[in-house]
Amino acid sequence: MTQPVVVALDVGGTGMKCALVRPDGTVEHAERHPTLAERGSEAVIANILDVAAALAGRARANGQDPVAVGVAVPGVVDEPNGVAVWSANIGFRDVPLRNLIFERLGLPAALGHDVRVGGIAEARLGAGRGKRHVLFVAIGTGIAAALVVDGTGFAGAHGAAGEVGHIVVRPGGTPCGCGARGCLEAEASARAIGRRYAELTGTPDATAFDVVTRQAAGDEVAAAVWTDAVGALADGLITCQALYDVNVLVLGGGLAEAGDTLLGPLRSRFAERVTFHREPALVRAELGDNAGCLGAALLALDHLERTR
Ligand SMILES: [Zn+2]
Repeated sequence: MTQPVVVALDVGGTGMKCALVRPDGTVEHAERHPTLAERGSEAVIANILDVAAALAGRARANGQDPVAVGVAVPGVVDEPNGVAVWSANIGFRDVPLRNLIFERLGLPAALGHDVRVGGIAEARLGAGRGKRHVLFVAIGTGIAAALVVDGTGFAGAHGAAGEVGHIVVRPGGTPCGCGARGCLEAEASARAIGRRYAELTGTPDATAFDVVTRQAAGDEVAAAVWTDAVGALADGLITCQALYDVNVLVLGGGLAEAGDTLLGPLRSRFAERVTFHREPALVRAELGDNAGCLGAALLALDHLERTR
């Protein structure tokens, strides 16, 4: 019998991670391509279809059976209808990707939000394995989360659930891109941390990584910026726990690369804030930047299961 595989694509603002994935989550083959966002959304769509078709062709050439396509995209996604509704990075406006993939490849397809499918992958195959209630929190340029219960991600009534980056943790604080002030992502995202340190020290290109290394080396400004950010993050996560009461909070995204430098003080600050809450495990994501691609594959397999 030929081995079934899923074609999986995780489409980001600059790059696409692509893979052939077996139903058990094993990655059979992986490749990366530029998204070509600078050429406009039509070019990105053509690029996605070309790469997906080439991967399906590769699978067949290797004697495998491509059974479905899963695609993760950023922005607002209408998952039930397979439409990429809106994306600032890629310029998508109401793109019916699921239908376009079916027309081009003749394969069923599923479309998912990048953070949500990343959460599904972490919950089933990564740091949330064996836990029923998982909140995956991606901390990078922005902050967003995905609630996954029994392996299923919750998109909300309008596909916009999980925007925990806009929980206000410092009323009147740093202006946020959404128009409010003191949002979690304006106070504690990797970008916010780098920017704050840059403002205080006049080092224009400082990053969160610089803050992490400099605070470890005894830089007092870096230490203060880091402590403030960790405190804001603890405030945001305690609100998440009040809302969702999960078994485990899985932290991913670029800032989670700081490892115990983040998790150590964050666990302490979180524990200080616990009142009625049941304390969740606070752990680092395990799948790194493969989570989106694996999650897209899982979504496609779920879609196949439901429509069979
Ligand atoms: Zn905001």
